[in-house]
Amino acid sequence: MNLLIAGTIGLDDIKTPFGKVESVLGGSSIYASLAASFFGPCGLISIAGQDLPSGSTTMLQKRGIDLKGLEMSDKTFRWSGSYEFDMNEAKTLKTELNSLQGFNPKLPENYQQCKAVLLGNIDPIVQLKILDQVKGDPFLVTDTMNYWIESQPKQLRKVLARSDVVVINEGEARQLFNTPNLIVAGRELLALGPKYGIVKKGEHGALLFSEHKYFSAPGYPLAELKDPTGCGDSFAGGLIGYLTKTNDFSESNLRRAIIYGSIVASFCAEEFGTGYINNIKLNDIKERYDAIKEICKF
Ligand code: AMP
Repeated sequence: MNLLIAGTIGLDDIKTPFGKVESVLGGSSIYASLAASFFGPCGLISIAGQDLPSGSTTMLQKRGIDLKGLEMSDKTFRWSGSYEFDMNEAKTLKTELNSLQGFNPKLPENYQQCKAVLLGNIDPIVQLKILDQVKGDPFLVTDTMNYWIESQPKQLRKVLARSDVVVINEGEARQLFNTPNLIVAGRELLALGPKYGIVKKGEHGALLFSEHKYFSAPGYPLAELKDPTGCGDSFAGGLIGYLTKTNDFSESNLRRAIIYGSIVASFCAEEFGTGYINNIKLNDIKERYDAIKEICKF
């Protein structure tokens, strides 16, 4: 297995100014693995309960997502969130950890050697347990969110220090480094140990920090978006999916991967939940890639 993707599987209740849905399939590993599946197969590491909607596992397998690393328990993780007109920030109304509590991932043997790992948003203790079972030195991308910044700051810093790339959104970067300035936050992120830091700015793109360089990627200009849930996870999944497919983990390819990640995230925002997944093909992603090239020309 070349690519591993870890994170939560959730049942989400989501409310945005454009509608609401209840108990829909979500979670960081779902959004990320679906985004990566446009570029190639991956192995999923997560836990879900018997209340998972029927057809979920078949849908994932059909997209080349291997489920040997999926554990089944009693009750699926649940999250409920809402958005105001500023759709860049979700307000968490409820988090029920359920099966996530005490999750002790065991990596199947054929997952232990891989080229790349995405430690999606999940408890940093779980992220560390996965990392300790991976052999060799795969390219490691880590994502997190405010819930874990607040509840597990020490463990989280250990994961960040071992990562090649840390992906974080702008609000969380300000929170983690106690600064309003994203340039300062980006530099402080690098000081924790990763080779690259990426600060996501919602619909307005992302900033890439490395030791000597800085890159600013625009977001794809969407006039209509319905639900940004999962955009951050889709960004990370699209990014690592592209890096793994091209087998090129250089800084210049990471810039292209950021653009691909942003584009998959833009499609994700156009539908509630994972609804976009059957509507688009890799060619649609490529069309937006060319459009972004035009936007950046000056
Ligand atoms: P995003 O909008 O990319 O930040 O991700 C939204 C997804 O993250 C939803 O599908 C939730 O189920 C999931 N989620 C919410 N809270 C957490 C949490 N504390 N840890 C991991 N995943 C979460």
